[in-house]
Amino acid sequence: MSIAAPVHTEKVPPFRNEPFADFSRREEREAFKRALADIHARFPIEAPLLIGGKRVETAEKIDSVSPSDTSLLCGRSASAGEAETDKAVAAARRAFDDWSHTPAEERAGLLLRAAALMRKRSHLFAALEVYEAAKPWREADADVAEAIDFLEFYAREALRLSGRKRLQPYILGEHNDLSYHPLGVAAVIGPWNFPLAIPVGMSSAALVTGNTVILKPAEQTPLVTWLYARILEEAGVPAGVFNFLPGRGEVCGARLVRHPDVQAIVFTGSKEVGLLIQREALAAQQDGLPFVKKVVTEMGGKNALIVDSSADIDAAVPDAIYSAYGFAGQKCSALSRLILLDDIYDVCLKRFQEAAESLRIGPAEDPGTQLPPVIDDEAAAKVNKYIGLGRESARTIYVGDVGSLAEKGHFVPPAIFEVDSSKHRLAQEEIFGPVVAVLRARDFDDALRIANSTPYALTGGVHSRTVSHLERARLDFQCGNLYLNRTITGAIVARQPFGGYRLSGIGAKAGGPDYLKQFMVARAVSENRMRHGSAPLEEHATETWEEF
Ligand code: NAD
Repeated sequence: MSIAAPVHTEKVPPFRNEPFADFSRREEREAFKRALADIHARFPIEAPLLIGGKRVETAEKIDSVSPSDTSLLCGRSASAGEAETDKAVAAARRAFDDWSHTPAEERAGLLLRAAALMRKRSHLFAALEVYEAAKPWREADADVAEAIDFLEFYAREALRLSGRKRLQPYILGEHNDLSYHPLGVAAVIGPWNFPLAIPVGMSSAALVTGNTVILKPAEQTPLVTWLYARILEEAGVPAGVFNFLPGRGEVCGARLVRHPDVQAIVFTGSKEVGLLIQREALAAQQDGLPFVKKVVTEMGGKNALIVDSSADIDAAVPDAIYSAYGFAGQKCSALSRLILLDDIYDVCLKRFQEAAESLRIGPAEDPGTQLPPVIDDEAAAKVNKYIGLGRESARTIYVGDVGSLAEKGHFVPPAIFEVDSSKHRLAQEEIFGPVVAVLRARDFDDALRIANSTPYALTGGVHSRTVSHLERARLDFQCGNLYLNRTITGAIVARQPFGGYRLSGIGAKAGGPDYLKQFMVARAVSENRMRHGSAPLEEHATETWEEF
C-alpha cells in the first residue's frame, strides 16, 4: 500500500508548539466571530459512521445539542450497534497487513498533512467546540492547538522510533538490533471534555505506529471528532485504516472492548468506565485469545493546590480560580481541593471567594464568559447533588446564582465549601464541575498528607516562595503532573507530558517520549555474521545506533 507523498525525515523541521490565537487582536476576534457564524449556518451537521472508507447511516441517531442553549441542535451522529461495530473491526483487520508494512515516512506524512489541514481550519474546529462542548473561546482554541501539536509531535516521534536500532556494534561477528512493530487493531474511546485533542492524540499515535484504528467519540461531542475524520480522509488515509464509530458507550464501546480482534484499547474517561474496561478486557481474555489485550486507561483526578504561608497570594488566587473554574471545572486536571496553611487561611480564602463571586457566568459563545455551562443535564444534576451535600455537611463559603440561565442551558453555580476532614466526600470524589473543597492544614507536612489522601494522582500544585517546600513537593506530592507557582491545568504537548497514576490512570504520558511505544511491540534480532556471506549477494538494511 502506498499513500501519496511520504515525508523526507531530514526535511521535517524540529517540533514547535502551535501558537494560540491572539484574541487581543481585533482581526483575530472578527475572524473567530465569522467562524462561529459560519459553523452555526451549517447546523444541523450530520455525522455518519465511517467503515472501510464508506459512510454508513444508522436508523438510531444521537442528537448533539449545545449545552449553552439546549434548543440549538448542532447536529446528529449515527449510532453504531453491535453489527456495525463488528463490521468496523473487520474492516480495520483487513487493512492492517498493508498499513503495518507501510513505511513510517508515509504514515508520518499522513499526520503532517492532517495537521496542515487542521491548522487551515482551526477557527472552524474551535467554533464548533464552542457550540457543541460549550468551551469558551480560548479553551476551544487551545484544544485545537493541542490536537495539531499531537499530530506534529507523534509524526516526528514515529520517525525517531522507526527502523532498526543497532545495539552494541563493537561485538564482532554478531549483529544485534531492535525494532518496533504495531500491535493490530486499536479501539480508541474518547471523552467529551477535550473532544478534539484527546481523540486526535490517542488515534494518531495508534495510526502512525502502524495500527489500524476504530475511533469511538463520546456521545456528547461526535461532531467535532467527525470533522477530524474528514480531515484524515482528505489527507489520504487508506480505507479501513481509520474507522469512525460514534455510538453508545455501553453498546459499541463495550463491544469494541470485548471483540476478539481488537488488540489494543486506548481509553480516556471516568474512573468507573476505565476500571470496567480493564475488567472486561481481562474477561475477554479467558475466551482463548492468542494475545493479551493492551489496555491503556487515562482516568479522573481530585487535584489539590497547596498555598503556604510564604506564597504570593496575588498570584496564587487567580491561578487557583482559573484552575478550578476554567471550562466550569470540567478538566481532568482541574483544581477541586484548595489546601491553605493555617496562618494565611482566612485571608486567602476571603480573596478566593471574592474572585469566585466576580466570575462571569454565560454561554460559551460570549467572549466575556468565564464560567460556561456543564456538558449535559446528567452532569448538572450531579453537580447540584454535590452542592446539596455541601450545604448539608460542610460549611458553605459561597454558592453562586445562575438565575434564568438554568432554563436555557446546563448552567450550575460556582461553589466553595469548607470541609474539616480530608475524608469528606467533597474532598474525595471527582465532581467534574465548578465545586471546590477548601481544607485547612496545620503546616506543610499536614498539607502534603491531605493532598495525598485520595486514591487519585493526576495533577497537583504548590504556591510557595519557600524553596525547601517546593523541593519537598517534588519528592512527596503524589501526582503525575506537579505545577509549582502556576496554574495546575493546561499541559502542553512535549513541554508537560501529561498523565497520572494510581486511580488516575495507567499508561505512558500523552505528548511525551514514551507514548508511542505503548502501541508497539519491540523485537530484538541477533544474527551471526561470522564467516557467512549472503547468497545471492545482497546488502543488509541500513541501521541507526542506539545507546542504552
Ligand atoms: P466517561 O467515562 O463517561 O466516557 C468516556 C467514553 O467511554 C465515552 O466515549 C463513552 O461512550 C465510553 N463508554 C461508556 N461506557 C462504556 C463501556 N461500558 N465500554 C466502553 N466504553 C464506554 O467519561 P466522560 O464523561 O466522557 O469524560 C470525563 C471523565 O474523563 C472525567 O472523569 C475526567 O477526569 C476524565 N478525563 C481524564 C483525562 C486524563 O488524561 N486522565 C483526560 C480527560 C478526561
